[in-house]
Amino acid sequence: MLNVPSQSFPAPSSQQRVASGGRSKVPLKQGRSLMDWIRLTKSGKDLTGLKGRLIEVTEEELKKHNKKDDCWICIRGFVYNVSPYMEYHPGGEDELMRAAGSDGTDLFDQVHRWVNYESMLKECLVGRMAIKPAVSKGLSHEVEEDISVRVVENVGKIEIVLKKKETTSWKRLGHPLENHNSLIPRKDTGLYYRKCQLISKEGVTHDTKLFCLMLPPSAHLQVPTGQHVYLKLTITGTEIVKPYTPVSDFLLSEFKEPVLLNNKYIYFLIKVYPDGLFTPELDHLQIGDSVSVSNPEGNFKTSQFQELEDLFLLAAGTGFTPMAKILNYALTNIPSLRKVKLMFFNKTEDDIIWRSQLEKLAFKDKRFDVEFVLSAPTSEWNGKRGHISPALLSEFLKRSLDKSKVLICICGPTPFTEQGIRLLHELNFSKDEIHSFTA
Ligand code: FAD
Ligand code: NAD
Repeated sequence: MLNVPSQSFPAPSSQQRVASGGRSKVPLKQGRSLMDWIRLTKSGKDLTGLKGRLIEVTEEELKKHNKKDDCWICIRGFVYNVSPYMEYHPGGEDELMRAAGSDGTDLFDQVHRWVNYESMLKECLVGRMAIKPAVSKGLSHEVEEDISVRVVENVGKIEIVLKKKETTSWKRLGHPLENHNSLIPRKDTGLYYRKCQLISKEGVTHDTKLFCLMLPPSAHLQVPTGQHVYLKLTITGTEIVKPYTPVSDFLLSEFKEPVLLNNKYIYFLIKVYPDGLFTPELDHLQIGDSVSVSNPEGNFKTSQFQELEDLFLLAAGTGFTPMAKILNYALTNIPSLRKVKLMFFNKTEDDIIWRSQLEKLAFKDKRFDVEFVLSAPTSEWNGKRGHISPALLSEFLKRSLDKSKVLICICGPTPFTEQGIRLLHELNFSKDEIHSFTA
């Protein structure tokens, strides 16, 4: 017999395998990629079995469709027949079956809050559950468009100043809007996308670019340190979203003049994969085109920095992006900090993002140090070589004092991060001393 390895999709090193929220992804069969799903939805095939009709679904009816080959799921009041999607679902059939014949909104939000199911599953839409109409009101009087928002990040205070259009006295503030989500836990709020405009795009390395987006008028978006957002584009008629971590203007201002610094702009360092799904589309956008940007997500908390003495950052490739803001925050806000070290893993010298800015920062701030490690260097490279390893880590992770309070942040390709976490545990660092960035 021929010993042909079974083909799994996505390949072990594929971006599509990035686990989200600690959830594992299953290997998909060949011909079952996101692009294949998009093609199927465009083929005109009747995916609901209802020949394009939309029906009103009762709870009793929903409950009946609870089998793999007849599986309906309700998400935020809309019912989808997800049976045709089963084999394309990166989380696997079992994950979808957990919500079969029921309201899967909570389960969905736990793992895929950011996924644009409305677009992905639009050909699977069966209809709507009966819902009560909600009152839609808002503020009782008009206000000026120009809203100012001040966020004191380390205290968690947000000050919003609205100016009345007319100087009359208001008897009441108004009524919450439908889906206004006031006074409910953040995890229960829907993900909101605002349309931003591409302002500039410049090369940083041979394949990584700095994208500057401008927020719409009166919009305020402050992405907390260590968190990411989702960018959304419509690709061949389907909305696709991918996570990206905005970078701070702190290192930008080291080299870019003039920098657009006020809260209207948001910067991203994004590597363009020529054979990727999303990044080539992003790269093809013209200045002035729009990209939708979600609310921030992520579980990093700056309270992890409290009383911190040593901060170690392990970044590989674009896994550097969360470290940019972390560096800024730590060096500016944490008086107890004695040492900040970044070990930055890349394939070649040409792949290193913002090398000179990092070297300049190390020169300027004596608490900060950076080491570059290359996995595929040229023969001229005099620095460190190889992949993440016990030898590299034990030399790098030296505390400034015997019992100093330490935090290690790690981000990069999934195998890098997983291997790193394993090695850190072997070096006796505890769970509380490690923060890993995943989706
Ligand atoms: P994909 O279509 O996912 O492909 C990427 C690569 O995998 C390509 O080389 C492609 O050929 C290969 N591939 C795809 N499918 C297969 C397959 N079946 N078999 C073999 N190979 C395959 N990236 C940044 O650049 N900057 C950031 O700030 C950033 N922040 C992130 C934050 C988070 C929380 C996470 C989880 C990821 C972040 N990423 C970031 C990565 C980003 O979300 C995307 O994964 C990345 O941009 C690739 O998207 P793509 O659709 O262009 O490529
Ligand atoms: P890359 O392919 O250029 O690799 C950079 C370095 O990572 C390599 O030099 C090597 O040292 C290490 N590496 C790569 N594969 C490895 C493996 N199998 N085992 C051990 N080490 C390995 O990296 P890239 O294309 O820039 O990819 C960056 C990754 O970071 C992407 O997967 C992206 O999704 C992820 N990322 C995650 C977040 C986040 O979760 N918050 C943010 C940004 C980027």
